[in-house]
Amino acid sequence: MRVTALGVSPGIGIGKALVIKRGAGDLRFRIPPRRVARELERLAEARRRSREQLQQIRDRIARSAGAEHAYLFDAQLLMLDDAMLIERAAEIIRAEHLNAGSALERAFAEISALFDQAEDAYLRERQGDVGDVVGRLCMNLRAGGDPLELFKDVEGPLVLVADELTPSVIAQLDWQRFAAFVTDAGSWTYHSAILARSIHVPAVAGMRDATTLIAPGALVAVDGASGDVFVDPDPDELEHVRGRQQRRAAYEQSLDEYRALPPVTEDGVQIRLEANIESPDDAPRAKEAGTDAIGLFRSEFLLASLGHAALTESVQFEAYTRLVKSMAPGRVTIRTFDVSESQLPVEQPGGDRSRAPLGLRGIRLSLAMDDMFQAQLCALLRAAAHGPLRIMFPFVSGLEELRAARAAVIRAAETLRARGETVPPVPIGVMIEVPSAAVTADLLAEEADFFSIGTNDLIQYCLAVDRTDDRVSGLYEPLHPAIVRTLRLVARAARRRGIPCSVCGEVAADPVVLTLLVGLGLTEFSMAPTAIPLAKQALRGLHAKDAAAVAGRALRARTAADVEKLLVDFVAPGAHAKQNVER
Ligand code: PEP
Ligand code: MG
Repeated sequence: MRVTALGVSPGIGIGKALVIKRGAGDLRFRIPPRRVARELERLAEARRRSREQLQQIRDRIARSAGAEHAYLFDAQLLMLDDAMLIERAAEIIRAEHLNAGSALERAFAEISALFDQAEDAYLRERQGDVGDVVGRLCMNLRAGGDPLELFKDVEGPLVLVADELTPSVIAQLDWQRFAAFVTDAGSWTYHSAILARSIHVPAVAGMRDATTLIAPGALVAVDGASGDVFVDPDPDELEHVRGRQQRRAAYEQSLDEYRALPPVTEDGVQIRLEANIESPDDAPRAKEAGTDAIGLFRSEFLLASLGHAALTESVQFEAYTRLVKSMAPGRVTIRTFDVSESQLPVEQPGGDRSRAPLGLRGIRLSLAMDDMFQAQLCALLRAAAHGPLRIMFPFVSGLEELRAARAAVIRAAETLRARGETVPPVPIGVMIEVPSAAVTADLLAEEADFFSIGTNDLIQYCLAVDRTDDRVSGLYEPLHPAIVRTLRLVARAARRRGIPCSVCGEVAADPVVLTLLVGLGLTEFSMAPTAIPLAKQALRGLHAKDAAAVAGRALRARTAADVEKLLVDFVAPGAHAKQNVER
């Protein structure tokens, strides 16, 4: 079977499917034969725990509401002994080597199919009770240990198939073991897609029903450039994919020579190319890719991997210092936590709003959680003593927030001085990623030391297109005239005030868009390390003066398609379709 969705991280990966649903709450994979006995034991243990719990519930209900109300739980206890459930799941584990959770789900699906055929409505309703028992069994399976520990000894390479990848799952996985990943949700600027490109793992997003279509253990071949996903490919398909894999490797090798070359345009305009990274451990990869500076360190990934409580000032100080030291004398730009409430234990009067994308997020959340913010700022200011470091605030919507954040930096510096520490001067910058910040860029430029344009969010909020929603990914147009104008507005505001302005959103890695950005006078970019050699190749073949002329025409164009045609004709004369060399 071949399905095509959105290729979001180029490259070819082939491996056995490991299926993750509900943030690792539901994990499906094939186990090695030696693990069968252990898996049967886990299933038996889950049944034992479930029986105990159900007996307790039944007794409590019988005492409080009368024996006649406890019958439901008697029925659930009987289900634990039904051969069609546990025995069937055990049979599946033995015969097909599926992990216990998957085997239970499969047994439940078989029972559900029978219930669906039942004429009797009462009988059909009992399906819900079986579902309840299966839910309890799965909960007890999970209680037996960290679900992500379970597949540690499953042989790779694996292809991760997930409904959605949460930052905490991403942070826990050992990515060396994954040849590729496929997700039901997401699109190009989805955080896990960004991460995939950053760590060079091929990925396809927005496949919608990948987690139902792809069985655990199935052989999956993923082409992260075209978006093709081959499930249990036949020998011809596999050969075809391997051919693509070889061509991709040759293409990547052809870019190797650019790693060591400086990023400069053909007519001599010096460009700064820096890396976007998510962990201090990524610093060597950035250097290998051909940069000596970090333009965006997404510090919130520390939160995802270590948890809020463990992230004390000293733990952060150690992480930031490690990063700064490993890049010095190159500069490092660290963004303060850009998280939403869902990743932090925030009090939520008025109900759970943790998933609201426009709720407490980025700088708003930092300003609302003073202790956490002060700990981060103190750690950053201390780390700045070890090499050039810049602090950048995410999701700023206007001057008041910048002022409040700057005031918080002053307080952190005072705290440190009171402790007897010296605090070096640290540039304070703003991410321009909220339309109101872009429109007031002239005001912000008066009080910020630098800008970094976050096009991933800026585009989604300017165009009202959710960057994670594959259904509207066609409307996510980086070359929309509104975006071209907004970029010019911000670039001009920074230039007039003489402050540096970088672009750290994903579009900078696209040679076609990069041409426009250079044409608008922008000369600093930050991108996934893997994108750097291609960007250097594009820049070294680009005449900045010509790019300025084409950008001038792009500013007068009326639609995204017109802008795109102008740029593509310029970058690759004769080509008409959108061309993204990387994709
Ligand atoms: C952006 O919004 O463009 C950006 C770089 O930040 P993130 O993708 O982490 O939101
Ligand atoms: Mg952003």
